[in-house]
Amino acid sequence: MERKNCWKEYSEKRLEKMEHYAKDYMHFLNKAKTERECCDTVVNMVEKEGFTDLAKLIKEQKKLKEGDKVYATWMNKAVILLRIGSEPMECGMNMIVSHIDSPRIDVKPNPLYENEGVAYLDTHYYGGIKKYQWVTIPLAIHGVVIKKDGTTVEVCLGEDKDEPVVFISDLLPHIASEQMEKTAEKLFSGEALDVVVGNRPKEQNDKEEKTAEPVKARVLQLLQEYYDMEEEDFLSAELEIVPAGKAREAGLDRSMIMAYGQDDKVCAYAAVYALLHTKNHSRTCVVMLADKEEIGSYGATGMTSRFFENMIAEAMFLHGEKSDIAFRRAMSSSNLLSADVSSVFDPMFADAFEKKNAALLGGGLVFNKVTGARGKSGANDANAEYLGKLRAILEQEDVIYQFAEYGRIDLGGSGTVSHILAEYAMNVVDCGTAVMNMHAPFEVTSKVDAFETMRGYKAFLEYA
Ligand code: MN
Ligand code: MN
Repeated sequence: MERKNCWKEYSEKRLEKMEHYAKDYMHFLNKAKTERECCDTVVNMVEKEGFTDLAKLIKEQKKLKEGDKVYATWMNKAVILLRIGSEPMECGMNMIVSHIDSPRIDVKPNPLYENEGVAYLDTHYYGGIKKYQWVTIPLAIHGVVIKKDGTTVEVCLGEDKDEPVVFISDLLPHIASEQMEKTAEKLFSGEALDVVVGNRPKEQNDKEEKTAEPVKARVLQLLQEYYDMEEEDFLSAELEIVPAGKAREAGLDRSMIMAYGQDDKVCAYAAVYALLHTKNHSRTCVVMLADKEEIGSYGATGMTSRFFENMIAEAMFLHGEKSDIAFRRAMSSSNLLSADVSSVFDPMFADAFEKKNAALLGGGLVFNKVTGARGKSGANDANAEYLGKLRAILEQEDVIYQFAEYGRIDLGGSGTVSHILAEYAMNVVDCGTAVMNMHAPFEVTSKVDAFETMRGYKAFLEYA
């Protein structure tokens, strides 16, 4: 089968629009490295476009009508956006679900210690990472500290060029002969990923009792100064260590984007952008941005949380569709794109793929009919009738797309949130952007694939 390449298909006009989109997307990535930052950024974006807070409408018992745009957030980490169509919601909705958490290194509840004049933060990594990729690179600290009086201190350190970064150390090659014999899996244990945060001891006068950990003491002094926090405040903090630095264009031809967290902000941004630029809306359109996908979608902000269905039920109630059966019909009649990134054929690791069923960089929006691992275990297997319908819509709107599997059978596999939404009996398929270096500190996408993802999502919202 002939494989299309966006670069060859694009008109000058589409190339221009694509570059504009890529620039906006990179700007979004810089503001939204963590799920909390992403939640805030999306709310700011949609409020400017006339979305109102659903919680406010519920309180005021306002009715929802055709064309109304609402959003809801949960615990500052999950978002749902709805745009009410002309049909009753009971007839079904067009929904896109994506996730806004990304693999990273989290700070433990009792993190700070000193060892031989070096101060560290102890960490516990989050999501499926190759640990060796995260050492010796500049890292930034993002997150919040919630103090006992309820105040929130926001932390973002290491992104501005004048701010210090932190890092995880590795052994010099000169004396690494034993280390180099280990398998990549064993090269770094989870406990070896502690982050270096200081080396300078606190100045102590003769009257003070000498502390055994003067470097740690100075770090605590600085935390007090910067964030008005004490050591115990780590207990109610969520501090996430992520690669420092901004999204960059990649390649001499500037054809790609290299940045942290493109899994899954490349799809999340595309979904939000598509919703904001959708014209037709006979069906209600929904975009859900979930947290915790990288660790199994559990928790009150993950896709398995009732938050998302509660908000749909609330919106239906304000739309005058109040029965339980109406809600059930709305869900089972819906179409869903599970918007998550796909692997991409990497010529340097050709053996890991079955080439004709691998996504190609620049090949456009990727559909994964099946996810799962080893004999499709745990997969959501999209229905052929649904796929046929989607192909017709994409071709009508001139969207370039490809169908792919993750990699060679028996090597592993992937899971997304698709099976969770499929429980409502709706049409579900996994569909998103191909990513090179997935789950590495800096992931790579082709600009055209990011743009084609947005175009595909827009066609889906308008015509599915
Ligand atoms: Mn993902
Ligand atoms: Mn992932």
